[in-house]
Amino acid sequence: MDVFTLPFMERALLAALFTGLAAPAIGTYLVQRRLALMGDGIGHVAVTGVALGLLTGTSPTWTAVVVAVLGAILIEVIRERGHTNGDVALALLFYGGLAGGVLVTGLAGQSASRLQQYLFGAITTISSTDVVVTMVLAAVVIGTAVGLSPQLFAVAQDQEFARVAGLNVRAYNLLVAVLAAVTVTVAMRTVGLLLVSALMVVPVATSQQLARSFRTTLVSAMLLGTLASVGGLSIAAVVPAGVSVSPGPTIVLLSLAGFVVTWPLGVWLRHRQRLHAPFPAHHDVADPDAHLETDPHPHEHGSACGHVAVPHGDHVDYVHDGHRHAPHGKHYDEH
Ligand SMILES: [Zn+2]
Ligand SMILES: [Zn+2]
Ligand SMILES: [Zn+2]
Ligand SMILES: [Zn+2]
Repeated sequence: MDVFTLPFMERALLAALFTGLAAPAIGTYLVQRRLALMGDGIGHVAVTGVALGLLTGTSPTWTAVVVAVLGAILIEVIRERGHTNGDVALALLFYGGLAGGVLVTGLAGQSASRLQQYLFGAITTISSTDVVVTMVLAAVVIGTAVGLSPQLFAVAQDQEFARVAGLNVRAYNLLVAVLAAVTVTVAMRTVGLLLVSALMVVPVATSQQLARSFRTTLVSAMLLGTLASVGGLSIAAVVPAGVSVSPGPTIVLLSLAGFVVTWPLGVWLRHRQRLHAPFPAHHDVADPDAHLETDPHPHEHGSACGHVAVPHGDHVDYVHDGHRHAPHGKHYDEH
């Protein structure tokens, strides 16, 4: 009998597909804002949410959503205050979330193995209801991350710039935090709360090796995340009987393998690009990645083109299609 036509496997494949699309979609903005470990922090806090679900006998998925969203807002508020001991406050929150979760699970009379399903994922035990919830939540995350990409990109790239351009930076930062929390819950059954951050970050790091524009990075990260999650699940499903391979870690290791394979290629591409453009003096020299051409760009920006135009140093940047860029010779550069 073909394992891939079993009902539990069909549910698992659907959940893996949607998780693989959603996690890197929101992860792209976290990486861009240098908040790569935010998903990990939310994951630790969400452990308490799962435990509360086990304690009260309600669905751990929904209690995890609520606690993860509250935790994400708290993290964003602490981060925004930006004081020197902000990272200590975050650490306390993370350890409190994990320890509280383990403690409450014990109080609920549940064994550690029940909690382990959520810590490292147990995608093959996912119920039909959980699959539907996963798909709906993931669709919301994907739709927002892709649909609002111009605004989210502008805010993640340069908060000052976005503020000048009239965007509500605070609202968009909170939106990213809440979407990250929802994603953590979506990925909880697939890769688990302790590994979720890997699926949000590693596919993005991989596609950054090869992609030059933001939009290409976003789309290829989603593609890589899907390949890793569906591929990892398939590998775990076809190992011979008697050997037990859990899908969560397999998915994470597979996406790490993707990064390892593309890394030399990325080094070579960046080297070649430097040879191609050896004098980046007209750009921000402190940031070697600053000279990044946009995708082929037929549109010509000007004072009346309708795109948000903001003075940036000695030139004008335009916000367009999830890019913020400026004309440079015959092409446009990402800024
Ligand atoms: Zn324009
Ligand atoms: Zn500029
Ligand atoms: Zn443009
Ligand atoms: Zn250029």
